[in-house]
Amino acid sequence: MRSHLLNDTTAERYRRTVTEGVERVAAKLATTDRPFTGVGVDALAPVIDRIDLDRPLHDTAAVLDELEEVYLRDAVYFHHPRYLAHLNCPVVIPAVLGEAVLSAVNSSLDTWDQSAGGTLIERKLIDWTNERVGFGPAADGVFTSGGSQSNLQALLLAREEAKPGPDGWEGPADHARLRIFASEVSHFSVKKSAKLLGLGPDAVVSVPVDADKRMQTMALARELERCRGEGLVPMAVVATAGTTDFGSIDPLPEIAELCAQYGTWMHVDAAYGCGLLVSRKRRALLDGIERADSVTVDYHKSFFQPVSSSAVLVRDGATLRHATYHAEYLNPRRMVTERIPNQVDKSLQTTRRFDALKLWMTLRTMGADGVGQLFDEVCDLAEEGWRLLAADPRYDVVVEPRLSTLVYRYVPEAVTDPAQIDRANLYARKALFASGDAVVAGTKVDGRHYLKFTLLNPETTVADIAAVLDLIAGHAEQYLGESVDRVAS
Ligand SMILES: *Cc1c(COP(=O)(O)O)cnc(C)c1O
Repeated sequence: MRSHLLNDTTAERYRRTVTEGVERVAAKLATTDRPFTGVGVDALAPVIDRIDLDRPLHDTAAVLDELEEVYLRDAVYFHHPRYLAHLNCPVVIPAVLGEAVLSAVNSSLDTWDQSAGGTLIERKLIDWTNERVGFGPAADGVFTSGGSQSNLQALLLAREEAKPGPDGWEGPADHARLRIFASEVSHFSVKKSAKLLGLGPDAVVSVPVDADKRMQTMALARELERCRGEGLVPMAVVATAGTTDFGSIDPLPEIAELCAQYGTWMHVDAAYGCGLLVSRKRRALLDGIERADSVTVDYHKSFFQPVSSSAVLVRDGATLRHATYHAEYLNPRRMVTERIPNQVDKSLQTTRRFDALKLWMTLRTMGADGVGQLFDEVCDLAEEGWRLLAADPRYDVVVEPRLSTLVYRYVPEAVTDPAQIDRANLYARKALFASGDAVVAGTKVDGRHYLKFTLLNPETTVADIAAVLDLIAGHAEQYLGESVDRVAS
């Protein structure tokens, strides 16, 4: 069994085994002609059920053959140009190389004595991102598992900073008075974070958006004023820079102004929009982000990085102390005075992957402009796709895209019942998924069911978009035709 351990004596086995796996994946990627096979849970579950985990195969080739059956054959492939559903990007090769290196060396980024150079590389990438944001030298941050964790940590810091001082805080009862302001289309992790942070059920105030799905600052001002008037504490405003559904960007400078006026922590959730930090064409869309107290960036969304790769950034690094705890065995207090850099002092996690290496390899290979160019291409594609949809009488499209999402709905002229149109759109999405020809997402707008493209693949073309719209129309028409038949018979 020791021959399976990766060490000095098994280097050759390591090389052979990993190469075998890479060959399989490479062959798979080269021959995948659809993003999905359309397999259903009922068909796939028994395949996995059948595997007896207590009877190993003892042979890499056999395990890889089995993997084809249980996973590779029916996986959902984000690299395929007709995968248009969620915020998943195709990944860049230098990052995949980074992934292979980081898991083989397996550094843990909690302490210097488990990572050495890894800690310094992560810190340099945090500094680099902070510079792009426009933060000053006091800024800091840490890599996280994803945007949800970044938002949670940012709001933890905001909660601690909202405390009026060592004596003015009476404990958990005061948590019920804290309020977070976020737009009605902000990410649900804001509400989840409020719950995890022990805030009250009314903690998150939903601020209405305008026709472009951007937070209405007049409404925000009104809510902040009301909060203050009622003796409540405005703990944080979460501005979203790239909403998950619409890619809309809240008016950051106006929100920053209001946060300054009310002494409120400003958090910018740029999980999706962070790709603009490296865009030559669209960086100005993020103007005002430099006034935030904290920022969430998901490199695994718009920097073409494999999951997971994310960070929480703060304008004032000292605020990270709210996440600092010392353990004698790991990061004793004396190490702070000895100036030993232990990233666990800044993180919610303890043992932590060296995800930063993927971004490092990417920047060292392609450069920031290379990444930004890819993101610009998908934003350009969204603009073209929007024009296509706007000119297509079969479709109703909402909000001209700022980033790379399109939200639309099939609206046949002959059908006037909106509930029937809802059902046709829901059906079309499901039927498309089951066909495996393309994968699209869905969401609700003003209570009605819409479909969504999240364009993150520069290989997707306008022709792909047009073809998928035809497929959707076909499925929807089939549904409507059959339901007319049902009513008639
Ligand atoms: C995706 C997303 C998140 C959550 O990020 P994860 O990496 O999925 O945890 C948070 N906010 C926004 C705006 C997002 O789009």
